[in-house]
Formats: sequence, C-alpha cells, structure tokens
Amino acid sequence: MSQDATLELVALTKRYGDALAVDRIDLKVASGAYCCLLGPSGCGKSTTLRMIAGHESASDGDVMLGGKRVTGLPPARRGTSMMFQSYALFPHLSIADNVAFSLKMKGVARAERLARAAEMLALVDMTAFADRLPAQLSGGQQQRVALARSLITRPQALLLDEPLSALDPFLRVRMRGELKKIQRELGLTFVHVTHSQDEALALADLVVVMNAGRIEQAAPAREVFGAPRTEFVARFIGGHNVVDDGSGPVAVRADRIAVMKGGMGLPATVRDIEYLGATVSVALQADQLGELTAVLPDGRFFADPVAPGEQVMLAWKPEDAHRLAA
Ligand code: ADP
Ligand code: MG
Repeated sequence: MSQDATLELVALTKRYGDALAVDRIDLKVASGAYCCLLGPSGCGKSTTLRMIAGHESASDGDVMLGGKRVTGLPPARRGTSMMFQSYALFPHLSIADNVAFSLKMKGVARAERLARAAEMLALVDMTAFADRLPAQLSGGQQQRVALARSLITRPQALLLDEPLSALDPFLRVRMRGELKKIQRELGLTFVHVTHSQDEALALADLVVVMNAGRIEQAAPAREVFGAPRTEFVARFIGGHNVVDDGSGPVAVRADRIAVMKGGMGLPATVRDIEYLGATVSVALQADQLGELTAVLPDGRFFADPVAPGEQVMLAWKPEDAHRLAA
C-alpha cells in the first residue's frame, strides 16, 4: 500500500462538559510509521484514538489523513480501521465470516469477500482455523482474527486500543512481535494506545507520551528513553532518577550510576538490594541528593557486592545526566 498515510492532528481538542479530556494536541505521524500513545490511565489516549477513528467527535481542531481533512467524516469513510480492546467476535459466525463481515456490510459479493478473508487469515497465520467458531479459539488466536477483521477494509491507518492487555505476559510479547511484522509488511500507519512503557519502547517508531490531555513528548523511542524532556516523562518511562542539583531537576539513568566502595564521588548509604536476574537494583540514600536507584549488571554487582547499611560513593558521567524542562 503505497498511498500517503500521513496522519496529522491539529489543535485536536475534546471537552466533556467542563472537563478537558484532550487539550489542543498537535501531532504528525509519518506515513507507514508505528506510533504508540503512551500514558497513565485517564490521560486521554482512548479519546484521542476515537477522535482519529471518528467514533468520537472533536470539540475543536482537525484530523488529517493522507493530506485530507477527515474530521467530519463517518468512521467508514476515513481510511482508518479500529481494533478494539475487547475484540468481541460474532459467536455464531465462522472465523472466515467474522473476518469478511464488514465487506458484507459494504455489499461486496460473497466470493470476493471470502477470497479477501482468506488472504487476511493467511497474513495472520490463521488459515487452518477459517471454518471454526470463535469459542473454539484461544485468546491469542481470537486476537489475530480481530486483527485480520480490522485490516480487510484496506485502511491507510490502523488504530489499536490496548490490543495486548487481555493476553498473558508471554503471549503479549509474542503478539507484539507479530503486530510489528504485519505493520512492516503492509506499510500501514499504526496508532497503538498503551499504558505499558515496555510495549511502547519495543514497538514504536514514534512514542507519544501523554499526561492530562496533553503531549509531554513525541519522539523516537531511544530519544524518549535517552533524553526524557520533562520530569513526568522521566518518571513514567522509568529507568531514571530525578534529582535536584540545586539549579533544577535532572534525570540520571539508573543503569549509568557507578556504586563504589571508596574513592571520589557522592557519599551515599545502601538502603536495599533487589535481585532482578540479569540486573541488581540498589536502593540508595545519597547525603546531598536524597533517594536514588542504581541498576547494575548481575556480574558486576556480585564481583564485589554491597549490603544494606554500607557506605558507598556514587559517580556518573556528565553525559548520563541531563536537565529536564520545568
Ligand atoms: P485513557 O484512555 O488515557 O485512559 P480516556 O481517553 O479514556 O483516557 O479518558 C480521558 C478523560 O476523559 C478521563 O478523565 C475520562 O474520565 C474522561 N472521559 C472519557 N470518556 C468520557 C465520556 N464519555 N464522558 C465524560 N468523560 C469522559
Ligand atoms: Mg483508554
């Protein structure tokens, strides 16, 4: 699909009475990019997605897809397709008929509908299940069917609201790999809502961190993690300490803090040790900076372990700390 699927939100706003659920957000998602809307519950992710889909009207602002204003169009005429959090398949219809359902609504002839459903089921590796009923599939399989169903209308942009949250952790990691693979194969623009930092970092070309109806930062995953713009982003994305060095808040990567038994550094006391497998998390009380966490590779930690109550020195390179916007 080579058509332009650039998605643009222009001062997009949603008010419910006096409450601002989405507060004049501007965003540009390149055609064929995987975008994750990331943020805590209630920050406006689903409302934003529903306004893109047309399931919710915008109070103000615009949604543009492929350079065209789609703000006033009904969902079926936007070039978007939505995969819902609960992927409720019709229980009495076969998998093939479930996938073909929206084409039936559009009046596409049965032979063509089933041919396209077969193509979509092949894409999600579910060909062998075409004649089954939804109740005869596992959660992960039902989810692949839901994905096939949302792709059959050949949307320019696929919108996914917490698509992996109903799956167990193992399946979640596997399915996210499959989502990414399908997105690459089809070259579609994906907008995926999640409250999971791991999921956003693993999937997204563009991570959009939202807080209270606004965008705190929109950047590639490595930039959001490596250089969080605000204190909110640094805390939400995790892996950072937020400290005040006297002239304002600073983020310091937890995995870049050296914990030494002597020498030059910031004096601190070890509060707690948590073994995490590949890494060990060391909770610290620094004399001047307060509570900090250092994350060490297990090999480095156990080569010369420290214990709770022990006095240590902390150090990090200047490039592993950076100032945050107020
Ligand atoms: P998220 O998906 O990030 O958890 P939502 O977009 O669902 O957040 O909600 C954003 C805010 O808008 C929340 O404060 C929520 O309570 C409010 N909200 C969502 N839908 C409605 C509605 N239909 N009526 C009134 N308030 C709503
Ligand atoms: Mg939501």
